Amino acid sequence: MNASLKKKILNCDLCVVGGGLSGSFAALAAARHGAKVVVMQDRPMLGGNASSEIRMCPRGAKCRKPAEDAIYDRETGLISELEERQIYGNPTLVYSIWDATLYSMLRENENITLCLNTSCVDAEMDGGKIVSVTGWQGTTYTWVTVEAKLFADCSGDSILATLTGAEYRVGREAKSEFGETLAQDVADNHTMGMSILLGAKETDRPVKFTPPTFAKTFAKESDFASSGENSDENLPRDHEVGTNGCNLWWNELGGMVDSIHDTEELRDELLANIYGIWDHIKNQGDHGKENWDLDWV
Ligand SMILES: Cc1cc2nc3c(=O)[nH]c(=O)nc-3n(C[C@H](O)[C@H](O)[C@H](O)COP(=O)(O)OP(=O)(O)OC[C@H]3O[C@@H](n4cnc5c(N)ncnc54)[C@H](O)[C@@H]3O)c2cc1C
Repeated sequence: MNASLKKKILNCDLCVVGGGLSGSFAALAAARHGAKVVVMQDRPMLGGNASSEIRMCPRGAKCRKPAEDAIYDRETGLISELEERQIYGNPTLVYSIWDATLYSMLRENENITLCLNTSCVDAEMDGGKIVSVTGWQGTTYTWVTVEAKLFADCSGDSILATLTGAEYRVGREAKSEFGETLAQDVADNHTMGMSILLGAKETDRPVKFTPPTFAKTFAKESDFASSGENSDENLPRDHEVGTNGCNLWWNELGGMVDSIHDTEELRDELLANIYGIWDHIKNQGDHGKENWDLDWV
């Protein structure tokens, strides 16, 4: 830590590292029970995978049972509160308003201090106990140290395990490890991959698309064979694009390699894929998308 840079020290009951849905809800739950909470989040918004940056909104929080028994299951609690606020304040699902709604829920609680744009890079230990974590806030060029009674690692990638030397494992466990009958017989290191999605919109006139130079070329439908590590399962991949704001969930890579340390290379490849797929839709064959424009990647 460079001593000439500005430093800030915060004290609280609970420090939450990572402000995705798990971190945001952990912070809210604790704060509503009276705890003083600091959330250290490395992005400018909350939500993680569910934020406007990734658009993985938690649709799985509800499920429709077969029509005949007419039951509609929903997860309740904070996820339901967030959904209801979205229906009220963001009925057409504008992704930046989605971010703002979650941000409001945390900002409204005076027990919560948000440290956005702050990446946790260090942890101080006293024996086996964490006493503080330190993050770099890039927007203010400030080292932020948070001292707390308890810490929650909600970083998605277990940054505190690495920083503290805690025991952890990566991948899918074998049945024998925890006596789980539904686990596989032999453990492996597979995880979820990284994904890059696209949003598109229909306009009232033809729109040209010139791909960036790094885009891959998918001239034929069968060329999607090379577009993902699982792509031999179901060729050609479905590339019908709708107006829901996030399409092409299968543009995912990395679950069978190191989805943390290889992320930069995976991002480059996924970007080359997604622009190549849009080029294919617009310029290779008839996909009926002459009037459509790329809106978001
Ligand atoms: C393509 C795809 C499809 C998916 N489909 C489903 C599905 O159908 N159903 C389902 O249940 N789940 C699904 N998931 C998984 C789901 O999105 C994740 O399980 C969920 O988002 C995890 O939430 P989280 O808050 O734990 O982590 P995240 O959303 O990853 O949030 C962690 C946050 O911590 C921040 N962070 C990381 N490191 C640091 C650090 N050092 N300092 C500060 N902040 C840090 C990150 O920027 C992020 O904002 C899917 C995921 C993907 C990618």
